[in-house]
Amino acid sequence: GREVRLASRPSGWPVAENFQIVEAPVPSPGPGHVIVRNIAMSVDPYMRGRMNDVKSYVPPFALDAPLDGGAVGEVIVSESPDRKVGDLVVHGLGWRDYAVLDASRTKVIDPGLAPPTAYLGALGMTGLTAYAGLVEVGAMRPGDTVFISSAAGAVGSLAGQIAKLRGAARVVGSAGSAAKVAYARELGFDAAFDYHDGPVGDSLREAAPDGIDVYFDNVGGDHLEAALSSLRPHGRVAMCGAVAQYNNTTPPAAPRNLALAIGKQLTLKGFIVSSYGHLADEFAAQMAEWLRDGKVRFDETTVDGLENSVRAFLGMLRGDNVGKMVVRLS
Ligand code: NDP
Repeated sequence: GREVRLASRPSGWPVAENFQIVEAPVPSPGPGHVIVRNIAMSVDPYMRGRMNDVKSYVPPFALDAPLDGGAVGEVIVSESPDRKVGDLVVHGLGWRDYAVLDASRTKVIDPGLAPPTAYLGALGMTGLTAYAGLVEVGAMRPGDTVFISSAAGAVGSLAGQIAKLRGAARVVGSAGSAAKVAYARELGFDAAFDYHDGPVGDSLREAAPDGIDVYFDNVGGDHLEAALSSLRPHGRVAMCGAVAQYNNTTPPAAPRNLALAIGKQLTLKGFIVSSYGHLADEFAAQMAEWLRDGKVRFDETTVDGLENSVRAFLGMLRGDNVGKMVVRLS
């Protein structure tokens, strides 16, 4: 089977030479293990951070070893009583055709509820991030005005819909093109703007003239600076990501107005989804109901083939995706 390896560490934007696709023998499964033929894999912004040799909440990718990340696939060999051949599972060994791992590191999914790739998105880590960030970290309350950046992306598109379903008075989104702005409006965002059209602060003030209560930050930089200006007293920021700076080689120029947090008594709280497992069951039940009732829409941008996975990853960082970027493997 093929696997994608990190050949060298990128500086700034990754280039093709930083990666290598290698044909490697599929390890034979030990007791308790399964072999999974991967059907699809996720490419996520956090993977960029793991390409750097820095200590973080997940260890860096090793050089000359396969990358890893969320994937769904079908069990084709099982040495475990807990999994049978044909089971569809979600697990953490993407970036390869075949994954060999202990059955306990796989989770069986229900394809009757949603297509398997939904478990990488709305029903998976992406969805839980949107839910936990809005409900617990951002402590959104009915009647709040909420601002969400990267509103047409995987997390942002869900966060916006969840905000409306939980009674937000007004939900404003930002995204990188007119088509994405139109998409966010289709999803139910009350207002949306293209952040290229002018200073983010001006666009946000226009879209939310009375200010905002919660900012769900996927972008950082100028977006965070704009939100700090527009937040009302006791407002909250759920610091989810800073995709605008993941490929930067110099520190970001914004936000310059952080001290506003003092007088307005703001709460800025960073979070990582893996610390919100206590919400997983509540989230899974709620999202399943929303999907069944057609209350949440979830779109994917699909790229075919492991050989195109690096292109898909870079494309996602550049904004090629609407909804979740997914690589179809077979
Ligand atoms: P998205 O689907 O939102 O894809 C990334 C998007 O970032 C692109 O589509 C692009 O959209 C946008 N983007 C790229 N550069 C810029 C820029 N300079 N300014 C503004 N937008 C930019 O990815 P995800 O939904 O998977 O992730 C969204 C955020 O959530 C990321 O910051 C990620 O790191 C974070 N995250 C955090 C988790 C956690 O546990 N804390 C877990 C999962 C995700 P556009 O065309 O609009 O520019």
